[in-house]
Amino acid sequence: MPTMPPATLDPEDWDQLRQQGHRMLDDMLDYLQTLRERPVWQPAPASARAAFQQPLPVHGSALADAHSTFMRQILPYAVGNAHPGFFGWVHGGGTPVGMLAEMLAAGLNANVGGRDQIPVEVERQITRWMAQLFGFPDTAGGLFVTGTSTANFIALLVARVGKLGVAVRAEGLADNAAAGKLVAYTSAGAHGCIAQAMELAGFGSAALRKIPMNAQFQLDAALLEQAIAADLAQGLQPFFIAATVGSVDVGAIDDLPRLAAIARRHQLWLHVDGAYGALAMLSPELAPLLNGIELADSLAFDFHKWGQVPYDAGFILVRDGELQRQTFAAPAAYLRRDTRGMGAGSPWPCDFGPDLSRGFRALKTWFTLQVYGTEKLGQVIAETCALARYLEQRVAALAQLELLAPVALNIVCFRYRHHGADAEIDRFNAELVADLQESGVAAPSLTTIAGQVAIRAAIVNHRSGRADIDAMLAALLALAEARIAAAPAPSMTHLT
Ligand SMILES: *Cc1c(COP(=O)(O)O)cnc(C)c1O
Repeated sequence: MPTMPPATLDPEDWDQLRQQGHRMLDDMLDYLQTLRERPVWQPAPASARAAFQQPLPVHGSALADAHSTFMRQILPYAVGNAHPGFFGWVHGGGTPVGMLAEMLAAGLNANVGGRDQIPVEVERQITRWMAQLFGFPDTAGGLFVTGTSTANFIALLVARVGKLGVAVRAEGLADNAAAGKLVAYTSAGAHGCIAQAMELAGFGSAALRKIPMNAQFQLDAALLEQAIAADLAQGLQPFFIAATVGSVDVGAIDDLPRLAAIARRHQLWLHVDGAYGALAMLSPELAPLLNGIELADSLAFDFHKWGQVPYDAGFILVRDGELQRQTFAAPAAYLRRDTRGMGAGSPWPCDFGPDLSRGFRALKTWFTLQVYGTEKLGQVIAETCALARYLEQRVAALAQLELLAPVALNIVCFRYRHHGADAEIDRFNAELVADLQESGVAAPSLTTIAGQVAIRAAIVNHRSGRADIDAMLAALLALAEARIAAAPAPSMTHLT
């Protein structure tokens, strides 16, 4: 009697799968080894987009075919942050070690929401390491999340329970007289996810005061004190300060000891958004710049930026781990805790944040720390700052270019000097960055500094070196000259 093959998703022929798997691994190692031979980024052709406008497949096809589609239609058209010429936004470069660890984690397919398993211990190990690194107590709570946007949001939710009590979880904010008066503070240079966290947490972004920055692009502490005094005079209740370590535009670090003193005086929660900057702590040379971070009530940061861990690997560290647990933990019959069996080991990661099912982000982070060590990772971070200073010097020495902000860490904001009205100069620089991105040589991004469009080079990738900075500047100058030469007389210029 013929029988149907069992409906499993495992292969019939493991040897064939193994060979295919080895080819896939080799292709990705080749990719990382030969990154420099590729463009940083290239616009995707219509054929690549068309490959992903197909009907839902009813019948499967060979793994080798899907791999081939990946190699031809996906890999060449990613944003390119693994490439040493990538200086856009603040993206980490990833590492081969992180990639291999991701493969192991995917194979294990651990759900790290909880239960009695060593993957949870790996995450706890990272939490203890981070508590030590940042001078938090052993009782601090820690949790992997997607990124700092979520980590900032979690911090605000914990602060909300700290301020209003656990009852706010059930009662909400609508009828809470105190809630309507709560106000928070951050820098005008803070990341947009701080305002979003205020919206999501139910306070509304109108309850967030964006305090202007000083000449170093730090939150101006004197203006913060004035704002707090004004709010108190209005009968409002200040409760939360979100400081920044490594601001998204220019890499500025807020004056943490001063902000901590203000927070203490008024009994405010001090949160630090250290998305990329916090890991400067790994460099003995840079760590003093973060003085005061140990005074924070909570700290959000990403391993996927300066930590070079593959996406995604955000982290939230909360001084009062018990308060963090009280913010999220909820009894559920199907999540029953025990002292033996798989239900042991409580509290679980799911008690410290909104996610129940969670991947094993801790593994690629543990591998990265274990294999490279903090000394090497710290060196890599310090090196990106040295490269930023090199770029700063080169920009200062080139008559065509001008710096738009002081270089605090690893971000350099500058622009091409061009004739014409402000809007014209802005447009010229924006076009220049697009030219540069399309050239495939280098990829800085754009931002606005004091109302002026700036070319922003954020040096995050451990692979970047002086030659990559030089290549970016050479291409930038050549593209600018070509653009100027091609343009009609200034009065008729159309830089569309
Ligand atoms: C990148 C960044 C964020 C957002 O982090 P995600 O990991 O992208 O969610 C927040 N704040 C700052 C200062 C950042 O640089």
